[in-house]
Amino acid sequence: MTVLIAGGGIGGLTLALSLHQIGVPAKVFESVAELKPLGVGINVLPHAVRELIELGLMDKLNASGVRTRELAYFSKHGKPIWSEPRGLEAGYKWPQFSIHRGTLQQLLLDTAVERLGRENILTSHHLTGWTETANGVRADFIDRATGKAAAGSYDGAILIAADGIHSAAREKLYPNEGPPIWNGRILWRGVTPAKAFLTGRTMIMAGHEILKFVCYPISKEPDAAGNHLINWVAERHMPPTYQWRREDYNRAARLEEFLPWFESWQFDWLDVPGLIRNCPHAYEYPLVDRDPVSQWTFGKVTLMGDAAHPMYPIGSNGASQAILDARVITREILAHGPTQAALLAYEAERRPATTDLVLLNRKNGPEQVMQLVEERAPDGFEVVTDVLSQQELEDIAANYKRVAGFQVEALNAKPPIVSKDARARA
Ligand SMILES: Cc1cc2nc3c(=O)[nH]c(=O)nc-3n(C[C@H](O)[C@H](O)[C@H](O)COP(=O)(O)OP(=O)(O)OC[C@H]3O[C@@H](n4cnc5c(N)ncnc54)[C@H](O)[C@@H]3O)c2cc1C
Repeated sequence: MTVLIAGGGIGGLTLALSLHQIGVPAKVFESVAELKPLGVGINVLPHAVRELIELGLMDKLNASGVRTRELAYFSKHGKPIWSEPRGLEAGYKWPQFSIHRGTLQQLLLDTAVERLGRENILTSHHLTGWTETANGVRADFIDRATGKAAAGSYDGAILIAADGIHSAAREKLYPNEGPPIWNGRILWRGVTPAKAFLTGRTMIMAGHEILKFVCYPISKEPDAAGNHLINWVAERHMPPTYQWRREDYNRAARLEEFLPWFESWQFDWLDVPGLIRNCPHAYEYPLVDRDPVSQWTFGKVTLMGDAAHPMYPIGSNGASQAILDARVITREILAHGPTQAALLAYEAERRPATTDLVLLNRKNGPEQVMQLVEERAPDGFEVVTDVLSQQELEDIAANYKRVAGFQVEALNAKPPIVSKDARARA
């Protein structure tokens, strides 16, 4: 019997493709009428890339993503703190990709339409609720844009809510939870055509908890003027009186709220204010997450991706963790069929793992090194080891990889979550 998936984001579409791979019928219900390539750049880490490769998506990823080669942290003065190789260069068997979120979502959508058929990827279907039936679950949808009540009710064996940080399913299960929690920081994000920097495939982070800049290239080839698309995120801790607006991935940024704070960040290897000023469209987004909850699975319904564990976009984990959820759900459906037992087994593995990550991201994840440097040497330093020992630097990086599940040797030695040839029993 069919698995119903609410939400056609990166998590929901990966789940649909994974279920198709093992021969289990699935239907995706997406709230919006047309999935547009929204958002800016994201990183997909090797453990998640590996699962996309098992889905046969390597060529498509290669064609549209940049293989991230290095991650490097700098102080607000542009001085190096820590750098580490990434992807194949770090010894993983799989690359790390920097890619536009919209490109990744479109790639998954096109493949899902191709493999599952358009009739199984329904847009203008916004989940509003469900009831359990003798054989499974009946989910109800409306067309949100027209406000017309019923877009239909559909029967399935189980319902997986992959409907993002404003999940309607989570709201039904936790009616008193309220909106996401804002931590006082605002992100401004954009993509600017500019010259390549450092290795040409480096992701950099500069600054500290109060003021930070992140950027990396998301286009493989330069344009006619020799420019690459450089994805950037500027982040500022706002005063307590700041009136923040509900997160919306499409809200236009106001340069005067952040550009002046970065005017002096002209390093000999990167012109930060130039990148901000030359960006055609920048967007604003408050840094929000939610407290981890104690249960995801209720009867034949469960949560996944940002609906289950919305986290700060620190350590490049939002999309990667949603992909891992999709693969673990699929593995458990292989073992138990599309049943509550499968959902409970998925939750038993993924809820503790992602809870740790949500909490670690609140402590700045691997970016702690930048904050420690700022606290210990706000006026600058000659060499970073005068401020932070090599051991401290190595421990912070290693601990994050362990919690997020992408230690090189451990990951290389593990079998994939779902292998290429796995098929569910008929
Ligand atoms: C428009 C947009 C832009 C983003 N941009 C970035 C970015 O630039 N950088 C970054 O790091 N992360 C970004 N994210 C978040 C990132 O994609 C997620 O953290 C991650 O991919 C987890 O994916 P998900 O599938 O759980 O949730 P999402 O990617 O948020 O997908 C959820 C999907 O569910 C749909 N939906 C919502 N409510 C319902 C409902 N009731 N019924 C049916 N469908 C519903 C939404 O329209 C959406 O397509 C963005 C998310 C969105 C929606």
